[in-house]
Amino acid sequence: MDYKHVTVAGSGVLGSQIAFQTAFKGFDVTVYDINDEALLGAKERINRLKHPYEKDLGATEEELDAAYNRISFSSDLAKSVAEADLVIEAIPEVVQIKKDFYTKLGKLAPEKTVFATNSSTLLPSQFAEATGRPEKFLALHFANNIWVNNTAEVMKHPGTDMNVFDDVMAFSRAIGMVALPLYKEQSGYILNSLLVPLLESAQLLLLREVSDPETIDKTWMIATGAPFGPFGILDIVGIETAYNIVQAKAKATGNEEFAKLAELMKTEYIDQGKLGRETGEGFYTYPNPSFAQPDFLKN
Ligand code: NAD
Repeated sequence: MDYKHVTVAGSGVLGSQIAFQTAFKGFDVTVYDINDEALLGAKERINRLKHPYEKDLGATEEELDAAYNRISFSSDLAKSVAEADLVIEAIPEVVQIKKDFYTKLGKLAPEKTVFATNSSTLLPSQFAEATGRPEKFLALHFANNIWVNNTAEVMKHPGTDMNVFDDVMAFSRAIGMVALPLYKEQSGYILNSLLVPLLESAQLLLLREVSDPETIDKTWMIATGAPFGPFGILDIVGIETAYNIVQAKAKATGNEEFAKLAELMKTEYIDQGKLGRETGEGFYTYPNPSFAQPDFLKN
C-alpha cells in the first residue's frame, strides 16, 4: 500500500472524523463537499474534534495542529481528487445522490484512484458500475467516534480486485483502525448483522411483556459476561435511531408487532424526552444506571 493522498468526500458527522483521523496519522487529506458553506461547517466540526483527541488519546496541541494543517478543503471535485490515491465517500445515504456522485467521480479521478464507500446500509455492488472502475471499488465502513470506536469493516463486492482489498486493509491499519475483512457482501456488515437482531429481540420481549429491561439485560450480562445488555446498548445508540429502524421495518413489512413496538417507543420514551444516554434518561437513568451498580448482577 503506497497511499499518500486521501480525499474524503462529504464532511458531515463521519466524513469530518475520517478526514481528521487520516490526517492525524500523517496522510495528506483533501476534504471535498458541495459548497463553501458545507466546508465552513467541516472546519468547525474538525476543530471541535481536537478536544476529544486530547482527552481520549492524550494528543498534544502540536500534533493536533499538524494534523489540521495536513487537511485542505475544496468544493471543486476535479481539483479535490487530482492527486488522490484513495477517495473515501461519506455523503448522504441516498442511492441517487451516491450514484450521481460516483458517475462524476469516475470520470474526473485519475486511473490509479481507489474509491471506498462508508455507506452503512447500501451495498457497494449498487454503485460498482457507476464508478466505471468496479475492480477499484469497495466498502470501508467506520463506526461513529472513530478515534475510540476504531473498527474498519472492509467489504468486497464480487468485482473488487483482491490487491485493492488488501491495500485498503493495510491503509485502515495505518490510520489506527482494527481492519475487519468481509469477503462477501453483507447488508449491515458484521456488527449490525449481529447487533440489530439482538436489539430487536430484546425489544420484542418487552413489547410482549415477557419481562422488563433490567431482567432482560441482567440475563444477557450474567450469561455472556458482556458489559452491557441490549437495553443498555439501546440507550447508547439513542432511542430515536432505534425507533427509526423499527418504524422503517414496520412500514416495509407491514408487520403489526413492529408497528406496536414503534408506538410504544414513541409514547413511552421519545414523547417523554427519554432519548437515551445523551438526554440523561432512556431505559435507564444516567450517569448512574442501575446496571452499573455492583449488586446488579448478584441478585
Ligand atoms: P451527514 O449528513 O452528517 O454528512 C453528509 C455530508 O455530505 C454533508 O457534509 C453534505 O454537505 C455532504 N454532501 C451532500 N451531498 C453531497 C454530494 N453530492 N457530494 C459531496 N458531498 C455531499 O452524514 P453522515 O452521518 O456523516 O453519513 C455519511 C455516510 O456515512 C452515510 O453513507 C452513512 O450511512 C455513513 N455512516 C454514518 C455513520 C454515523 O454514525 N453517522 C456511521 C457509519 C457510516
